[in-house]
Amino acid sequence: MIVMKFGGSSLADVPALERVASIIEGRRARRPLVVVSAHKGVTDQLIAAGRAARAGGVDGADAILGELRARHEELALAVGLDIEEPRALLDRLETVLHGVGLLRELTPRTLDFVTSFGERLSARNLSALLRHRGTPSAAFDAWDLGMLTDGKFGRARPRPECEERIEAAVAALPEGEIAVTTGFIGRDRRGRVNTLGRNGSDYTAAIFAGAVRAEELEIWTDVSGVLTADPRVVAAASPVAALSFEEAAEVACYGAKVVHPSTLEPARRHGVPIRVLNTFEPDQPGTQITEGGAGADEAAPVKAIAHKGGQSVVNVRSTRMLGQHGFLSRIARAFARHEVVVDMIATSEVSVSLTVPPTKGLGAVLVDLRKLGEVTVEEGRTELCVVGSHLRDTKGIAGRVFGALADADVNVEMISQGASRLNLGVVVADADAATAIRSLHRALFE
Ligand code: ADP
Ligand code: ASP
Ligand code: MG
Repeated sequence: MIVMKFGGSSLADVPALERVASIIEGRRARRPLVVVSAHKGVTDQLIAAGRAARAGGVDGADAILGELRARHEELALAVGLDIEEPRALLDRLETVLHGVGLLRELTPRTLDFVTSFGERLSARNLSALLRHRGTPSAAFDAWDLGMLTDGKFGRARPRPECEERIEAAVAALPEGEIAVTTGFIGRDRRGRVNTLGRNGSDYTAAIFAGAVRAEELEIWTDVSGVLTADPRVVAAASPVAALSFEEAAEVACYGAKVVHPSTLEPARRHGVPIRVLNTFEPDQPGTQITEGGAGADEAAPVKAIAHKGGQSVVNVRSTRMLGQHGFLSRIARAFARHEVVVDMIATSEVSVSLTVPPTKGLGAVLVDLRKLGEVTVEEGRTELCVVGSHLRDTKGIAGRVFGALADADVNVEMISQGASRLNLGVVVADADAATAIRSLHRALFE
């Protein structure tokens, strides 16, 4: 069995859906289980609808709801789905949005419920299209195939028993019928809908692939694999042939949106190789992600440049703590207490610098940190990360990286090398990021 995941841009309209259906049909012999995102742009619209209802009252979301109805009814008609199916789902959505409008309140729980409709609608449309084309198929909400989540709205994780439940549910599916299931969403033990966070369908697909011990997990998107840099910044970015799970995790964690960072763990744990492929150019080889990362560019010292903008750097300085133990652990505890994630860290005897994503919790962390020393915060920073397992054993890479940044006249504000030594990270101002990335790409890949 293989698991195939299709992202929103692969499911944008009827021609895209037809393309996806023929890709799936071409792999029928490998018994695909299909995981889908919402149609392109729908999750954004659902979030906007929730907020519009909160701000504008009962009619606040009517305009967006109207657009969603028109689009989904048109799609349903084109793929041969009984129009009553999307209508029933959208009626429920409308009721919830009216509730939001009446209360003028949009809790994380309600937002998760609202956003879950995107995937529920797209799974039904794709499955209907397969049937329309003569391929037996059925649509599922992920919870009907065993997906049980932990109740953390907006960032849910699967519960430990989830894998066994999925394995059993998938084993019970009728032979020869292609199951199309929702990415991104699950239900907790109290039956409440949770989402796994933006871009979470990749993660759902990996959970399924791990649970059924799939031969392969295919992530189908709108670019030909993981590229050497974000193509929106570097026009010359090209696909990386092969990555190890470790390298892919670094690339994903440091901002390459193409694979959700949590995707790697379940696949790796069960030894399921991942391939990232392009729906619009299905014959391209894409990127293969495996334990050892064997492939054409295996020996390349640098595989990709990842970046993440809009971060903050927190500096903590304390001469009082000079030579005393426990300084780092106190700092770490302050972040842990308020559940704020730290990415990069650089330390000296009396000071520590850490990068954090934009988060509401930071204010509370700063209050705690100020008890330990002098604290400053710099906002609007980009983490740039050069990734490759051969960084460890290739001389001169750091020289090339800093040379390229100096050539671009970019000031490096912080430097960090991961303990595994397969990444070299620097922090620059957001305003310098694009120049820095292009210069690095020229120096390392062009
Ligand atoms: P999907 O809808 O298929 O899940 P996403 O938009 O989530 O697709 O992810 C694919 C996008 O990720 C690409 O279109 C590209 O703009 C962006 N991206 C950022 N960095 C990279 C990278 N290093 N390699 C490939 N794509 C990247
Ligand atoms: N539809 C969700 C989102 O837009 C999940 C996904 O696409 O992976 O974030
Ligand atoms: Mg995505």
